[in-house]
Amino acid sequence: MTAAAILEGPVTAGVSIRPLLEIDGVSHVYRSALGTETTALDGVSLSVARGEFVCLLGPSGCGKTTLLNMIAGFVTPSSGRITVDGETVRGPSPSRGVVFQDYSLFPWLTAGQNVAFGPRMAGQGPAARRQTARELLALVGLPDAADRYPAELSGGMKQRVAIARALATDPAVLLMDEPFAALDAMTRAALQRQLLAIHEARSKTVLFVTHNIAEAITLGDRVVVLSPHPGRVAADVTVDLPRPRRRTAPGFNALYAHLADAIGAETTE
Ligand code: ADP
Ligand code: MG
Repeated sequence: MTAAAILEGPVTAGVSIRPLLEIDGVSHVYRSALGTETTALDGVSLSVARGEFVCLLGPSGCGKTTLLNMIAGFVTPSSGRITVDGETVRGPSPSRGVVFQDYSLFPWLTAGQNVAFGPRMAGQGPAARRQTARELLALVGLPDAADRYPAELSGGMKQRVAIARALATDPAVLLMDEPFAALDAMTRAALQRQLLAIHEARSKTVLFVTHNIAEAITLGDRVVVLSPHPGRVAADVTVDLPRPRRRTAPGFNALYAHLADAIGAETTE
């Protein structure tokens, strides 16, 4: 065993089992200009292993976006600590790719230029980043969209470009905040399938926020339920169903009922 491996902690067959992402007792309090305080999250702890696909499920207002923004480095925790690959998060980093719900593409850049943006910031040359953009647009099923502007793309296509853009810096973890919530059911199902294919092909670690129970079961290796006011981890459930997961498959409905109960909701659809 190497010294580095020993420092990393326990190992199995030479592979470190240190979680990729560790959220340790994280709380966040928003303070308004008038002095009112909202405790968005209270003592949230969560570990995500390398290569794992974890869905963060909870009703509107339970702190999902706040938590994702803290992992992304956009928001600083009021207390607690977040580490990615052993490094404390202190701000945004290309090692954490983010996909937002609203299509946050740069409208003045083409799809190809949007995808190439991160590599450009990282100093990659024009030919290499054009190649990166071409490959990633093909990966998300848009091989011919490089020269089109966001305004010329459908909602589903924009989110495909956003996923390609988030992957362009080869991040250790992909953070996704209700990325498919605004899409119609068929487009959403197509993007879910594609995301799972990318997750497998690239062995990406994914933290995927949703308020949709069926989506969480369809996608996640694990579903972590946040309860609101203040946001706390209410359940952490391993999804032990074979993929692709259809609503008619045995076990789906039982898990759905269990998660709905954990959320304390009737349904969220
Ligand atoms: P979710 O994404 O689960 O809907 P959020 O993280 O957006 O939840 O919000 C969690 C709580 O924090 C809510 O009560 C919300 O009103 C509050 N909140 C979110 N952002 C701010 C902000 N910038 N200022 C004050 N309160 C906020
Ligand atoms: Mg949100």
